[in-house]
Amino acid sequence: SVASQGFGTELRRELYHHINTLSHKEVDEFGTPSLITRLTSDINQLQVAVAMLIRLVVRAPFLVIGSTIMAFMIDVKLALIFVLVIPLVAIVMWLVTTRTIPFFKSIQKKLDKTSLITRENLVGARAVRAFSKQQHEIERFKDNAEDIEKAAVRAGKISALLSPVNAIILNLAIVAIIWFGGFSVNVGDLTQGQVIALVNYVDQGIITTGAVVALVNYMNQILLALVVVANLVVIFTKSAACAARVNEVLDTKPSVTETESTEENGDSSAPAVKFDKVYFSYHDNSEYALEDISFTADKGQTIGIIGGTGSGKSTLINLIPRFYDASDGLVEVYGTDVRKYSLNRLRKKIAVVPQKAVLFSGTIRENMKWGGDNITDEQIWRALKISQAYEFVEKLENGLDYKILQGGKNLSGGQKQRLTIARAIAADPEILILDDSASALDFATDAKLRTAIKENCSDMTVFIISQRANTVKNADQIIVLDDGKTVGIGTHKELLQSCTDYCQICLTQFSAEELEKEINGDE
Ligand code: ADP
Ligand code: MG
Repeated sequence: SVASQGFGTELRRELYHHINTLSHKEVDEFGTPSLITRLTSDINQLQVAVAMLIRLVVRAPFLVIGSTIMAFMIDVKLALIFVLVIPLVAIVMWLVTTRTIPFFKSIQKKLDKTSLITRENLVGARAVRAFSKQQHEIERFKDNAEDIEKAAVRAGKISALLSPVNAIILNLAIVAIIWFGGFSVNVGDLTQGQVIALVNYVDQGIITTGAVVALVNYMNQILLALVVVANLVVIFTKSAACAARVNEVLDTKPSVTETESTEENGDSSAPAVKFDKVYFSYHDNSEYALEDISFTADKGQTIGIIGGTGSGKSTLINLIPRFYDASDGLVEVYGTDVRKYSLNRLRKKIAVVPQKAVLFSGTIRENMKWGGDNITDEQIWRALKISQAYEFVEKLENGLDYKILQGGKNLSGGQKQRLTIARAIAADPEILILDDSASALDFATDAKLRTAIKENCSDMTVFIISQRANTVKNADQIIVLDDGKTVGIGTHKELLQSCTDYCQICLTQFSAEELEKEINGDE
């Protein structure tokens, strides 16, 4: 118990640690449900295998080898039967194992799918109900479960051969022992001379009835040992498949790695963020999600990024904290290549508010302290004020001690967004990235939020991603993205005059007169 549980715990810890070093790219490739099955079900299986190995299997070779040696001590000729039988049994076991491993591998893969389906169904429970898709989801689950059943039954059918085939081989061996041994001891109708000869034969210690019985018993010992092993072969075959899956994760090298020079801290007088001819694709040979992006964001500037969905806005900002590495070109933070920082140091400088607001179960205070344990309540309230969350948090009966449920289920979309913004601001980063973080806020709150950030965080470099022209209008620079390429960089006014894509976005959101006024405003 100590050994197998210890093994499981160590392995689980090691795997979890390794998964945490992987970059988004590798995690995307495995998929979250698969990583979860590997961390739980696969490792449990390995743990069981170790326990069985220690308790039952280690005895088998001793019994097999010991019985063979004892057989040789009794009678060398008859013991040759043992020598014939053992390789035969080994071949049978090898055949069955190699045939079934692929099935067990596919079963574990299908379990990944079960976990994917379950996860999607539970996370998207509301969508499923809204579209009355329960029946469809039940069918999907059932199909998958039946798939697993089929594969398991097929593997089971092959494994089931093991015990009977072994029993046949070993019982035939027993028949052989009795047959050949029996000739030697059958004294039923012998002539006197023959009896004397036999007695001599027995006296020479060659064979006796007792010896034959002993040999049969040794063969039975082997049979019993192999029956146990045969029953466990299924467990081991399954575990081999699981081990391969765990190893696959452990062997994956993170694509984003830290360099040696972890002392790098950047030059505070250099531009906060600089992209130089950056290209990026999610998979090695797929098309670029970003192409030839170049811009410079000075310290304290507000940079707006606007573009249709799928134009690469989130992809672009993911390169700044090195969630992914650029395929080509240079991303610099404070004049230093992002790859030269230690990840910790780089990410301390940057706070990202992701598109999807993620809060963890715990109190509001605990969530706000993600940027550092030494964040005081005062700083938290300030951050809440800036992010326009002050009013609603204050109204909660326990204030900062309000318990957030898993996934932030007891908060509205807008409340969650404001808390994630507050969490980022509380960390007091040098670069703040808001990835469409105000999408669930009404226009007035959105405007108040931007003003508050501008007033309170004047030396923070802020990236604001939005679909709304209104949100990015006042930024120092606006980057207009279309299909992974920059189609315009400049201020609101400049872009209105030079960038047709930007004008089109604005035209759908402002009235023509408003735009007219803005273009001609200063002239
Ligand atoms: P935006 O934030 O502007 O809506 P994204 O940056 O999220 O757009 O996506 C840009 C493109 O990259 C899209 O075509 C999308 O399909 C692709 N993409 C985004 N995330 C991934 C990913 N993890 N793996 C593969 N492709 C992705
Ligand atoms: Mg996005």
